[in-house]
Amino acid sequence: MRRPCETSPERPRRMTQSDSLNRPYEECGVFGVWGVPDASALTALGLHALQHRGQEAAGIVSFDGERFHQHKGLGLVGDVFGDSRVMATLPGTVAIGHNRYATTGGTHVRNVQPLYADYEFGGLAVAHNGNLTNSATLKQALVKRGCIFHSSTDTEVFIHLIAISLYTTVLDRFIDAVKQVKGAYSLITLTPDDGLIGMRDPLGVRPLVLGRMPGYEQGNGGWVLASETCALDIIGADYVRDIEPGEIVVINNDGLRSLRPFGDQGGRFCVFEYIYFARPDSVLEGQPVYEARRQIGCELARESAVEADVVVPVPDSGVPSAIGYAAESGIPFELGIIRNHYVGRTFIEPTDQIRNLGVKMKHSANRPVLAGKRVILVDDSIVRGTTSRKIVDMVRAAGATEVHMRITSPPTKHACFYGIDTPEESKLMAATHTLEEMAQAIGADSLAFVSFDGLYRALGHANRAEGARRYCDACFTGDYPIELVDKEGNLVA
Ligand code: SF4
Repeated sequence: MRRPCETSPERPRRMTQSDSLNRPYEECGVFGVWGVPDASALTALGLHALQHRGQEAAGIVSFDGERFHQHKGLGLVGDVFGDSRVMATLPGTVAIGHNRYATTGGTHVRNVQPLYADYEFGGLAVAHNGNLTNSATLKQALVKRGCIFHSSTDTEVFIHLIAISLYTTVLDRFIDAVKQVKGAYSLITLTPDDGLIGMRDPLGVRPLVLGRMPGYEQGNGGWVLASETCALDIIGADYVRDIEPGEIVVINNDGLRSLRPFGDQGGRFCVFEYIYFARPDSVLEGQPVYEARRQIGCELARESAVEADVVVPVPDSGVPSAIGYAAESGIPFELGIIRNHYVGRTFIEPTDQIRNLGVKMKHSANRPVLAGKRVILVDDSIVRGTTSRKIVDMVRAAGATEVHMRITSPPTKHACFYGIDTPEESKLMAATHTLEEMAQAIGADSLAFVSFDGLYRALGHANRAEGARRYCDACFTGDYPIELVDKEGNLVA
């Protein structure tokens, strides 16, 4: 006899590298689909398009009208869901999925989402992108009440808050739960009665878009929720709109309903999504990511011009900005650094000597393009500075006579507590060095970051004052728009 939520056999774990956080790392990707055949296959495709948001693990929970089914594993989506026998264990016309990059909790299968729980009212699965800033505080209180946590991810807090809620309906329990949490998050929940529930946090820091499969306009099916529009494109779904900050959408056999239990608190979307995290072919909050990056490059060229022979992107996120810089400056764009796409984050680095060669496994210098040239390198950020140093050294070793580094974000001086993995502040180079010291430390002839005015102009705003009201830019400014409850209570390091 099958259990309420069937779990297919676990596959061997893929090995992951220990990561030294030389760049800020993406959070997670979420995806959900309602009322279509092969819901799990579409979800696997959606997760594949969102792979850049998390490479450590992936999971899908489907519902066949009677029972939930789940499969999760460590590794890339193709590793976890590449076997048709696995997909056959996930029947149903409704499914949700998750790509994990661990910002809380370790790399264990028990932390892989969606998380599933059996309640007195039936099963419920939840997939979550982001970070709760009061999860440790809530967890402490929940444990005192007798709740037993099975994972170390903050997502499980939702599971327990829903369980202990005194409200009757699942939707009311869900709303009761999200009213107690603080943080930056996008959630997709799957329940038998209320169907698919999608939500963005009250300030909409993390993204979530709504799409629809063509041909379903006359019925109630075909709805899709995803972290980014690139996940709609891969399955041929049409973009409908972004879920609004604080909005809850409920999708079931009665159609789609929108609830606003938090009212309108304005939005503070993560500006780093445009600079680095999102895929360049995604459109977030009506703004194409590619064009935003290109415009940042144009702004950088106007703000920090320097005489040079070639503009070279640090792939991949630096490419659209380097195109913009080259167009604005009239200096030729060249692919002076080639990225090896087959290394990813899965290579094991057994010794320091091999680890130090790591940058060459990912990036190699295109010597014929660089030799004898004055090079402008365009990259998205400097975190610890160690990767930038290696890249500058590599470009010089390939014969560049000058290396000028241009960065498409303002200096990263503060940690992110909203779902992006950054090192603590003392490890951030911009928090401890002046601009001149940074240039010297990474070995560049000159270094410049885009200004706040330039960044927000590139995003279509008049200046910094206008843009800052609209976005979270706390990792550059320290202006955290959501209360850091656990940090202030010293529960989180
Ligand atoms: S602190 Fe930075 S990375 Fe984190 S949500 Fe805000 S802008 Fe994004």
